[in-house]
Amino acid sequence: MRLAGKVAIITGAGRGIGREAALLFAREGAKVILADVDPQAEKVVLEIQGFGGEATFVRSDVTNRESCVALADAAAETFGRIDVLVNNAGITRDAQLIKLSESDFDRVIGVNLKGTFNVTQAVAPRMIEQGSGRIINVSSVVGLYGNFGQTNYAATKAGVIGMTKVWARELGRKGITVNAVAPGFIQTEMTESVPEKVLELMRGRTPMGRLGTARDVANIYLFLASDDAAYVNGAVVCVDGGLIP
Ligand code: NAP
Repeated sequence: MRLAGKVAIITGAGRGIGREAALLFAREGAKVILADVDPQAEKVVLEIQGFGGEATFVRSDVTNRESCVALADAAAETFGRIDVLVNNAGITRDAQLIKLSESDFDRVIGVNLKGTFNVTQAVAPRMIEQGSGRIINVSSVVGLYGNFGQTNYAATKAGVIGMTKVWARELGRKGITVNAVAPGFIQTEMTESVPEKVLELMRGRTPMGRLGTARDVANIYLFLASDDAAYVNGAVVCVDGGLIP
């Protein structure tokens, strides 16, 4: 088991990639804290307990700083330490520049960018105290290369890479690695709103000839959280089937 005895917080773990990662981490021996605004994460906890894994749900809103501090406290109280943080919670509110509302701009910044900052600032002091930790930030190929209609989303995902690079420098000496994962187009509820025509285009542009699965991405979270990635720090790992050469 690659995460035996490790304690991992995964935000946005109620569905999609976060859910898949929670199941995978638990199968690999981690004690998982599922953090989500959506109580459906409770069902994932039951699935994990169903195969003998350890998990707990802490209802959390990454945009709310008090909620993030409460999450870090709850994780440490329940399992005694925090070894891994996966900043996976994210949303889209797509519109072209001219039509993008200020509230949709602010909302996406609040969840994807400030949310990542809020949770990490709440959790990092405990990792510093322990002298070890793994922080995995979730970006997107859109943060590297842009995408039509995603001004707000691209800004957050590029910002997540920026914060990753800074934290890798600040926390590396304290035994903590910080890396980013940049998925391409992955089949989850997030991409259900993308028109089939666009998805077909993306399949055509992807050398692998298919969209990614949540498991494709969760596997990389697992690698970065495991001892195998001990010397990987400040990296951005694309999981996009070769979409972006
Ligand atoms: P998803 O299926 O939409 O799941 C996201 C989860 O995050 C949902 O359970 C959602 O709850 C939760 N969430 C939303 N706002 C939150 C908040 N304020 N606090 C805590 N949890 C919150 O998304 P996904 O496709 O699995 O994506 C996971 C991550 O990968 C995101 O960061 C996304 O940007 C990134 N990503 C995805 C793709 C893709 O193609 N799917 C590609 C590149 C990057 P609700 O159900 O209440 O909304």
